[in-house]
Amino acid sequence: MWNEIHRIFDDHARGIECQFKYWQLVNFRRRGLLTQLFFKCQMCNYEASFWTEPMDSEKSDINAAAAAGCVKVGIGYTQMEKLFTAMNIKYMSEKTYVKNRDHKKTVLKNIETESSEN
Ligand SMILES: [Zn+2]
Repeated sequence: MWNEIHRIFDDHARGIECQFKYWQLVNFRRRGLLTQLFFKCQMCNYEASFWTEPMDSEKSDINAAAAAGCVKVGIGYTQMEKLFTAMNIKYMSEKTYVKNRDHKKTVLKNIETESSEN
């Protein structure tokens, strides 16, 4: 994540006045276990955001992985939420959980179908 913060800053910095010390976190947004961080250069007002996990890979989607983990170990949303609460980690909403769980099931079903066809 630190590399991503630096990469986005380094890509924008055109003038010598833009120094990393002016790159400040101005907001954040949560989507399940993912967080989107919004940064702003206090020198040139350039703004950028990025997610705390890569968004381009289905394999690395932490929300889908958490939902799939629940299914695999045989627990539901309530048990998983209690577990995260015990660890003082804000968990995803039930709606997000169901969406990720159902999406993961569809992906797994498609993989099984493709495997049996070959
Ligand atoms: Zn700047």
